[in-house]
Amino acid sequence: MADKLARLNLFCLQDVLFHLPLRYEDRTRIVAIGSLHHSNRAVIEGVVEHSAISFSRSGRQRRRILMVHMADGTGSIKLRFFNFSSAQQEKLAKGKRIRCYGEARRVTNHLEMIHPEFSEVLTAELSPADQTLTAVYPTTDGVHQLTLKRLTDQVLEILNQENSALLTDYLPETTTLSGQRPINLKAAINFIHRPPPDVSLAALEEGVHPAQQRLAFEELLTHQLSLQQLRDKIQAQGAEKLSDGGELLTRFIKQLPFELTSAQDKVMAVIKADILQPKPMLRLVQGDVGSGKTVVAFAACLMAVNSGRQAAIMAPTEILAEQHYANFTSWANELGLKVAWLSGKTKVKQRREMLEIISNGEANIVVGTHALFQQDVVFSHLSLVVIDEQHRFGVHQRLALKNKGVSAHQLIMTATPIPRTLAMTAYGDLDVSVIDELPPGRTPVKTVVLHESRRPEITQRVRAAISEGRQVYWVCTLVEESEVLQCQAAEDTQALLQEVMAEFKIGLVHGRMKPLEKETVMSEFKNKDIDLLVATTVIEVGVDVPNSSLMIIENAERLGLSQLHQLRGRVGRGSTASSCVLMYSNPLSKTAKKRLAIMRETNSGFDIAEEDLKIRGPGEVLGTRQTGLMQFRIADILRDEALLVQVKKEAEVITASHPQIIEPLIRRWLSGAEQYGEV
Ligand code: ADP
Ligand code: MG
Repeated sequence: MADKLARLNLFCLQDVLFHLPLRYEDRTRIVAIGSLHHSNRAVIEGVVEHSAISFSRSGRQRRRILMVHMADGTGSIKLRFFNFSSAQQEKLAKGKRIRCYGEARRVTNHLEMIHPEFSEVLTAELSPADQTLTAVYPTTDGVHQLTLKRLTDQVLEILNQENSALLTDYLPETTTLSGQRPINLKAAINFIHRPPPDVSLAALEEGVHPAQQRLAFEELLTHQLSLQQLRDKIQAQGAEKLSDGGELLTRFIKQLPFELTSAQDKVMAVIKADILQPKPMLRLVQGDVGSGKTVVAFAACLMAVNSGRQAAIMAPTEILAEQHYANFTSWANELGLKVAWLSGKTKVKQRREMLEIISNGEANIVVGTHALFQQDVVFSHLSLVVIDEQHRFGVHQRLALKNKGVSAHQLIMTATPIPRTLAMTAYGDLDVSVIDELPPGRTPVKTVVLHESRRPEITQRVRAAISEGRQVYWVCTLVEESEVLQCQAAEDTQALLQEVMAEFKIGLVHGRMKPLEKETVMSEFKNKDIDLLVATTVIEVGVDVPNSSLMIIENAERLGLSQLHQLRGRVGRGSTASSCVLMYSNPLSKTAKKRLAIMRETNSGFDIAEEDLKIRGPGEVLGTRQTGLMQFRIADILRDEALLVQVKKEAEVITASHPQIIEPLIRRWLSGAEQYGEV
C-alpha cells in the first residue's frame, strides 16, 4: 500500500491531510428515480426487479455484463456492471433492496447508470442518507476513492485526539486574513475533508469559506516562497558583471532609422542596471505586439558582446528565429560582429560550422530555436540568454539553461501581457518590466467580423488594398492539429485566390516548407515582390512587414484570443491605417462569439489578456498546464486574486523574520512537484 500511496505523493500522515478533495458530492438525500435527469449525479434507492448476465463482443473477446433493472415506485433505471464478483452479483439479485450513487444518463428512451457505487440495504425501513457532503479525492491505480476516504477518516481521528501533534500551524502570529486572525488550521482541515451538514454544495463550490480561504492562502504563500527560493538559489550562484554596452551600443542606436520610444529607453536602462550586478538578471519584459522588443533584445546582447562575452537569443518558431537572424545579422554587420545560427533543421555541415564558431568564440551572438539547448552546443563564453515569446516555452525550458553550465543573465520577452496579479504568481521568481508604449505614428487596427458567405466582398477589399500599393496577409486555420492538413488548406487557398485575382502575385508560406523556401518567400514579401501572402498560423509571432495593412483570418472562430491578437499584430506596423477581417463560419459557439466581439472592441493586449484569462483560466493562458506549475490543490488564482497582494507581503515577512518555516511549508504543499526541488 505504501508503494501505491507514494504514487500520490503520500508518505506520511500529514500528506494524507493535505491530499485535498477535488470536489464534493451531495449524498445527503435520496433522489426519486422519476425525477432524475440526464447527467445528474445522485443517490437512489430501490428494489432490483430483474438481474441477468449478458455478453458483449469487443474484438475477439467476449465481455460479461451484469444488467440490473431497479425501480423505486417513481420510475426505473438500468444499472450496468462490467467487472463484478459473484458476491456482488448476489447482492444485486432480484428482490434485493439497494442504494446506488452514480451519474444518470439517458440512453434512447430509458435511464442508465454505468458502474454505480452500490450497497445492499438490509433493513426494510428507510435508512438515513449521509450526514455530510462527500469529499472526492484524486485517485490513482490501486488507490480507490473508498480507500482514501477510510484513510482520511483514520488520520482525521488521530488529528482530533486531544494533544495531537500531527499538524503544526506555521503561519506567524501576526498573520491576518481580511483583517482577522485566520481560522485555526486543524478546523480548516476538518472542514475541507468532512464539511459540516449545514454547508451546501453550492457554497463549497464557491470556495470562499474561511476554511477554504485559509488553506488557499497558505498554498499560494508556499508557492510564492518557493519561487523566491528558486530565484535566490539562482542568484546565489552569481554571474559576471557585464558592461553598459559602451560605444557598440551607442553606434547601434545611432544607425537605427528611428528614435527609441521612451518605454524602450526605460527598459534598456533597467536591463543595464541588472547586468552591471554580479548576480544573474532574471527579468521578464512584457510588451504588446509591435512595441519594439527586438531592438531591446539586441541592445542587451551588445552589453554582453561589449564585455567580450557571448549572447544567445532563442525564439519559439523557425520563422521567428529566422527573422531575428536576419535582423541581427544586418545590425551586427554594421558593427563588425558575427552572428551564428542554429535550428532543428540546420543541415549537418552548416551545423558543424556553427558549433565550431560558437565554441571557439568567433560568434558573438547566437540566434536559434530550442535547438540552442541541445547537449552538443558548447558556448565559448555565454553570459546572456534572451528568450523571446516566453509564453510558448515551459518553465522547464527556461530552467534548462542551467544545464549549459553557466549562470547566465536571463532576459525573457513576451507579447502576452499577463495581468499583474497573475504575473506575480506565475513569474514570482522574475522581475517584470513593461514596454508600455507603441512606436509613434501607429494607427490602431480596425477589426471587422464577417460571415464567410461575404467572401466576394472580402476579395474586393483585398483587391482595393493591393491596388493602393499595400500588402495583405491571408491566414488559413484548421481545427485539426495536423500540420499536413493545414498546409494543404493553405495551398488550396492560394490556388483559389490566384484564380480570382490573377493580376496579383500571391505567395504561400507554411510550416512544412524548407527553411530556405520560407526565407525566400518572406523576403519577397518584405521586398513587395509578393502582394498577398497566404499563410498558416506559422506567422503568428513576431513576423514584421510594416507595409502590410490588411489581414484576413479564415475561420477565426477556431482560434483563441491570444493567438488572434498575435496574428492581428502583424498588421498596423506602418503608418497606413490597417484593418483585420475575422471571417467565421457556422456554427459559432458562445465563447467563440465572445472572443470575436472582444477582438472587434479592443486592440489592447492587456485587455485581451484579462478577457482571455476569464474565458480560459490561468493554466491555459500561461501554457503551463503540463508543467504543473499552476496546478493548485485548493487555490484558484482568479477566485483568490484578492489574496495575492497579501501573499506577497506575507512572503516578505516570512523571508525576513521566519525563514525556518519555509522548508516545512514547501514540504507540506509542494512535495512531489519536482520543478521546485533543484536549481
Ligand atoms: P515586437 O515587440 O512585437 O517584437 P518588433 O521588435 O518586431 O516588435 O518591432 C515592430 C516594428 O517596430 C519593427 O518594424 C521595428 O523596426 C519597429 N520599431 C521598433 N522600435 C521602434 C521605434 N522606437 N520607432 C519606430 N519603429 C520602431
Ligand atoms: Mg517580437
